[in-house]
Amino acid sequence: MWRFFSAEYNSAREIIDFYNLKKNMTEPHFQVFTGKNKKEEDVELIITGTGQVKAAMAAGYIMSGRSVDERDIFICVEEGMEHKEGCMLCSEIYDTSSGRYYYPDMCPVHPFVETSSESMEFAAWYETLTCFAMQHQLVFAKLGKNMAERLGGFLESFYDVYEQRHPFHHVYAERDIKDEKNVQELITKLGGSRVVWINHYKDVFNRKKQSLKLQKLSPAIILAKKTGQLIYPGSKECQSFGNSFFYYTSSMMNCLFDCEYCYLQGMYPSADIVLFTNLDDIFAAVDELLMEHPVYLCISYDTDMVALETLTCYCRRWIEYAAGRDGLTIELRTKAKMTEQLADYCREKVCENIIFAFTLTPDMVKLSCEHNTPPANARITAIESAVNSGLKVRVCFDPLIIADCPDEENRQSYSELIRELFDRVEPRSLYDVSLGEFRVPCDYLKRMRKKRPESKLLAYPFTKENDSFCYGREGQLLADYVENELRSYLPAEKIYRWR
Ligand code: SF4
Repeated sequence: MWRFFSAEYNSAREIIDFYNLKKNMTEPHFQVFTGKNKKEEDVELIITGTGQVKAAMAAGYIMSGRSVDERDIFICVEEGMEHKEGCMLCSEIYDTSSGRYYYPDMCPVHPFVETSSESMEFAAWYETLTCFAMQHQLVFAKLGKNMAERLGGFLESFYDVYEQRHPFHHVYAERDIKDEKNVQELITKLGGSRVVWINHYKDVFNRKKQSLKLQKLSPAIILAKKTGQLIYPGSKECQSFGNSFFYYTSSMMNCLFDCEYCYLQGMYPSADIVLFTNLDDIFAAVDELLMEHPVYLCISYDTDMVALETLTCYCRRWIEYAAGRDGLTIELRTKAKMTEQLADYCREKVCENIIFAFTLTPDMVKLSCEHNTPPANARITAIESAVNSGLKVRVCFDPLIIADCPDEENRQSYSELIRELFDRVEPRSLYDVSLGEFRVPCDYLKRMRKKRPESKLLAYPFTKENDSFCYGREGQLLADYVENELRSYLPAEKIYRWR
């Protein structure tokens, strides 16, 4: 269903005429018109009256007690200035009364100009409608003359566009970092993307009602400055590999891949990718720590930095920074193939204090729950190439996943994977190997299940242990099995198991 909101009859007249909408004479409080679009779907148009109070009241009144279908679209319209394209979509709404900014998700591809709006009705509709609908279901349009048909064409293909992959269709960038060289370079690299200037990344990232499914398909990218704490102590869910001073840092948040078990879904309200552009500040914070003691630092936990390397060059910047810094060991974890440029760069540089950690998963698990990731064969090729370049390589069988198949088949898939790895890679050439069963904090799993109700992996009857969910005895048996398999290739001291 398409549901239009307009403050005044005049701004809506063209739509009413174009769809031949009829006034609902039984509606006592507001003017409501109904009809059908070209696809015979329901169209409803509500004239709310002008001003914030009337706009919010009408939207709340109309929506209360109604269910929202996942393919519904809410279109808030007002008469816009005459423009050559005749219609502008609002990517930013400024509420002049509260001083707050709102950012509805934007359709990844559309033919209109984007603009900012100070309409008080738009602000009121945004606040009200996000109680009922998802961010991407809201469209805010300033309409010129003769635009009903063109707007209708856009709405007809709305979900066809959303169902295709358009990563980085929009770049949200903080106004304060607008003039920074690396920000300008990133925006240039993302030449085809629309740019929206924002005050703070949390205004976009922390919004309620964001669609994990659509954002994973076509994430926007958010450029921001990281402030506050820049380095964090390692989490109990992660392995320290015997390092006393175990830390992690997030110069990026979220990932191009889409693993159903990924804890980031439970941690973040958004699947859009945040790129913190002030890497030098993070480097300075590491330098400060290094003055106190050695540092073991994981830099690719809340993202897959290698997968974004072509855009960001952050792996190269970290390698350059780490070179010659005594006491610093960096772990760079990935499921991605290393790009040729990164591999060449690593061959030329001294990467003594970098551990390149590749996560391996049987293809059966990858196909069912690690969407968009490279297959095992490609990851082993990346391991082979890294080893041949003389890099320190860690292979991670973490998390071990109990697939939706008989136990024997699941174990078999792990032993075949290990055999394939060591058929191609000399065991002694690996720095070490890690393994650990799937585990996730309890509150994260609740949120993950809500966002992915269809996931068989997340529906597993997990066991609760120390505020985390894990596979319990079944998980330990799988980890025992994988550990035994690894021991036929590697000495015990090279195998790290999470417990
Ligand atoms: S690759 Fe890692 S960070 Fe990316 S979705 Fe998968 S588990 Fe999450």
